[in-house]
Amino acid sequence: MARGGGQSWTSAESEAAAAAEAEQPAEMAEETGPKEQGDKMVKETHYYDILGVKPSASPEEIKKAYRRLALKFHPDKNPDEGDKFKLISQVYEVLSDPKKRDIYDQGGEQAIKEGTSGSPGFSSPMDIFDMFFGGGARMARDRRGKNVVHQLSVTLEDLYNGTTKKLSLQKNVICEKCEGVGGKKGSVEKCLLCKGRGTQVHIQQIGPGMVQQIQTVCVECKGQGECISPKDRCESCQGAKVVHEKKVIEVHVEKGMKDGQKILFHGEGDQEPDLEPGDVIIVLDLEEHSVFQRRGHDLLMKMIILLSEALCGFKKTIQTLDRRILVITSKSGEVVKHGDLKCVRGEGMPIYKTPLEKGTLIIQFQVAFPKNHWLVLDKLPQLEALLPPRQKVRVSEDMEQVDLQEFSPTEHSWRQHREAYEEDEDGPRAGVQCQTA
Ligand SMILES: [Zn+2]
Ligand SMILES: [Zn+2]
Repeated sequence: MARGGGQSWTSAESEAAAAAEAEQPAEMAEETGPKEQGDKMVKETHYYDILGVKPSASPEEIKKAYRRLALKFHPDKNPDEGDKFKLISQVYEVLSDPKKRDIYDQGGEQAIKEGTSGSPGFSSPMDIFDMFFGGGARMARDRRGKNVVHQLSVTLEDLYNGTTKKLSLQKNVICEKCEGVGGKKGSVEKCLLCKGRGTQVHIQQIGPGMVQQIQTVCVECKGQGECISPKDRCESCQGAKVVHEKKVIEVHVEKGMKDGQKILFHGEGDQEPDLEPGDVIIVLDLEEHSVFQRRGHDLLMKMIILLSEALCGFKKTIQTLDRRILVITSKSGEVVKHGDLKCVRGEGMPIYKTPLEKGTLIIQFQVAFPKNHWLVLDKLPQLEALLPPRQKVRVSEDMEQVDLQEFSPTEHSWRQHREAYEEDEDGPRAGVQCQTA
């Protein structure tokens, strides 16, 4: 029996989210964060590019990227992008498994293909999708309509303060007029064209003595296996047994909920005769915040301070996610170094289900140094006199004076260096000092 995936969002919110997504793929890597690992060396970045993440992406970032793309390209919503959906699933299957990810990082796609030659290869994209979005309901599914998963874009403010979002969705409901029969009672007949099978088999000659069997959905009954003569068809649903209905659901986003958290609307999926309707599953998708990053119950932010503030103390304000203003103070005499972490307890995220408790606000300081030649040269001795003494180095004749230049560790230049180095190794040097036991 054909199942209509007749659901679609009509809210402006989801469109805005899709637009935001297109602009910035899930990229949350910090520049100087405490978990900084730098640019990771990998053989190729193709798989990472497909998910729109960096090779140094954390498992959470990879999960999030998969979640967004899988929902966007799911055949229900994007029937023409089946190949893309499959590709995303395969890539996710590799990158979400630490062992396979390691193999890919070192040997690229080639190594993955060779490594899986003994096994059946990739799982089905639908299985990966179901597992990810809490299917597990595969057994029950046969007697139930399928679940429909939708993404709901939320801000960090939404998760901090809690909110209610109204979303309108189209769904199939059993036609009231004919009670899901499709026409007058007794008007339903077995389809004559396909004899109730719902499919037709065509024999096609593709060459001398060679025929091909092609199975297609029956054109007469559209796979239903039964027909209602046009004069008996229900006027309301034209014999489809179901009608499209617009339904507004209210999604209660509670304080402290997380990115990726699911909110279940039991039995709100598409209705079909003789099937228990599936569920509508709303998946929260957190937008990046301009100031705060969430780490579990904690909030992380960066704050730029001037060198004078770093050395002499400061007062600074922070606007919280519920628009209060906090004042933080570094007392005179305290030195705050570049990269220093300090925290305010009880100013992190509210904890889900116990929202009066809150995590910690962590502030990472970045010291803005003055530009070159900010101070006239003859004043430098005055400054030096106030600062801790400089280290003196005695330069002797046998030392070498070299040029100190600017260096930018961009991914591009690193990779070029690496390739050059590898060529060297495979080249003339290989074999010269070969170790033999
Ligand atoms: Zn038929
Ligand atoms: Zn009807």
